[in-house]
Amino acid sequence: MKQFKAESKKLLDLMINSIYTNKEIFLRELISNASDAIDKLYYKSLTDKKIKVNKKDLCIKLDTDKDRNLLIISDNGIGMDKEELENNLGMIAKSGSLQFKEENDKKKDVSIIGQFGVGFYSSFMVANSVEVISKKYGEEKAYKWTSKGAEGYNITECEKEEYGTTIILNIKDSSDEYNYDEFLDSYTIESLVKKYSDYIRYPIKMNVTRRELKKGSDSEYEDVVKEETLNSMIPLWKKDKKKIKKEEYNSFYQSKFYDYQEPLKVIHTSVEGLCSYKSILFIPSHAPYDYYSKEYEKGLSLYSNGVLIMDKCPDLLPDYFSFVKGVVDSDDLSLNISREILQQDRQLKLISSNVEKKIKSELEDMLKNDRENYEKFFKEFGMQIKFGIYNDYGMHKDELKDLLIFYSSKDKKQITLKEYVSNMKDDEENIYYACGETIDKIDMLPQVEKVKDKGYNILYLTEYVDEFAIKTLINYDNKKFVNVCENDLDLDTDEEKENLKKINEENKDMFSLMKETLNNEVTDVRFTHRLKNHPVCLVSEGPVSIEMQKVFNAMPTDESINAKIILEINESHPIANKLKTLYEEDKDKFKDYTKILYSQSRLIEGLSIENPTEISNLICELLSK
Ligand code: ADP
Repeated sequence: MKQFKAESKKLLDLMINSIYTNKEIFLRELISNASDAIDKLYYKSLTDKKIKVNKKDLCIKLDTDKDRNLLIISDNGIGMDKEELENNLGMIAKSGSLQFKEENDKKKDVSIIGQFGVGFYSSFMVANSVEVISKKYGEEKAYKWTSKGAEGYNITECEKEEYGTTIILNIKDSSDEYNYDEFLDSYTIESLVKKYSDYIRYPIKMNVTRRELKKGSDSEYEDVVKEETLNSMIPLWKKDKKKIKKEEYNSFYQSKFYDYQEPLKVIHTSVEGLCSYKSILFIPSHAPYDYYSKEYEKGLSLYSNGVLIMDKCPDLLPDYFSFVKGVVDSDDLSLNISREILQQDRQLKLISSNVEKKIKSELEDMLKNDRENYEKFFKEFGMQIKFGIYNDYGMHKDELKDLLIFYSSKDKKQITLKEYVSNMKDDEENIYYACGETIDKIDMLPQVEKVKDKGYNILYLTEYVDEFAIKTLINYDNKKFVNVCENDLDLDTDEEKENLKKINEENKDMFSLMKETLNNEVTDVRFTHRLKNHPVCLVSEGPVSIEMQKVFNAMPTDESINAKIILEINESHPIANKLKTLYEEDKDKFKDYTKILYSQSRLIEGLSIENPTEISNLICELLSK
């Protein structure tokens, strides 16, 4: 017996112990695999004349055997040879996914399962053992893959007349916990097919027992067994929008894109004109676990008149909308088109530009009319929009800027830039923002207090890409973005400015000694009017802000990029006079005070201090006096 690859074994364990409560989905997964296999064969037959299949014969068959506890799913798709059985069913294709899972607690497993292509393994939720008998199209030999679950699997040669795949599930015995018998009941199976797999393009056939009037009688009934097609076979995107129930969209989305949650938004469009296509686009309600990683592949499933050409066509989506899932079906695309040429295809370009416009307008619409859902969306994918703004040297910034929302100090909720500007007074010129880890932390920043006090609205930026995006925008509607922690925050009257300049000049020597005491870690020390109640703060000068410095230095490079920082002391705080006195009377103590104040300012900014023990001792010394 062969062992499963370590990762698969873990997943199997999970499946068998079945934390995933929605067991019935195994059927849609197996049907979806069967349909994919038929798709592959059919697509091949269109592009390779040697392969002859009769479209009418293509189908999926279901069968139950109550006496032997069997549920059988067969298809006449492409089939698998020995190697493919080994590779496809012996391990999980998408490796790396389980690593992530391990870092999370067991409860989260449930949700993550839905995010892999675990389709086939889900059969172990309902079956004690599984047999896969397969014969690849064009090959002589057939093979049988068998497994009772986690211990491993066997592959042996076997007999099978037709090409394709037959999967035989030995359904578990019912227990108090779960009624597995229902999966042997043809009515249940029929309703599951209708519920989850109605849109599958090939007939799903099964023998069903129907009660019918006896021939020649108008009152006597008899049970007749007939083979029926259970599904309507109309691809969801070709159905009349008005006739599609929400559940149908959801189920289609969940089975096709491996999501355990419902989508946040469904966009179903039918375009006629220069290029005609139908599409269903979905905005997921949460980011996939690998979304913000290199592993994530963007793209929409591309069909040509109902035939799948490409599973994830990346050219249909710009990076900043890479979170969108969905299908596009166009009769205008040639089936014979090679995947390389596809990129240059004029039709495809037209479609992709249309798709992009549609996504944008739907998002704008949600922003305007359904703010609650938009905020949900933005929480999950806003970061991608922000990346979109600053990537490619800001090439797409104008297109995306109106999709941004940030928390506003005045409104106490998230607002758009347009909303910020529309509430500005005529003489206001700047859009103020402040950066920090959380809304609460920013709200407590000393620099924020005074600006708020003066009546200005401040946007609170809590994600690290925020400031990069804002700096790429530079301004919005001719209003400049200004960080409240920046050096030249111009809030004072001319008189106040003159006054401050004078005081700073007078205390020049004192500030030099402070700078020296801090080993020139700061570019400057000075008094400020920026602060209201707080004694000190740090501000930055030049293009790199303190928040940006944190981001740069968190990146794995040897170089460190530092903001030019200035220590500012509140001129109207009692500490200002204390410093002046100490400077005259006790230079040693003055230096200790300087160190403590500087450390405080760093801590407030969320920066670390280099010598915590020394600072702690200094504070204790003061406290014990
Ligand atoms: P996924 O469908 O996400 O790839 P599965 O575990 O369900 O993951 O299936 C793994 C692979 O096994 C499929 O990608 C496909 O190549 C192969 N496979 C599964 N079922 C069939 C089938 N009925 N016919 C042919 N190949 C199949």
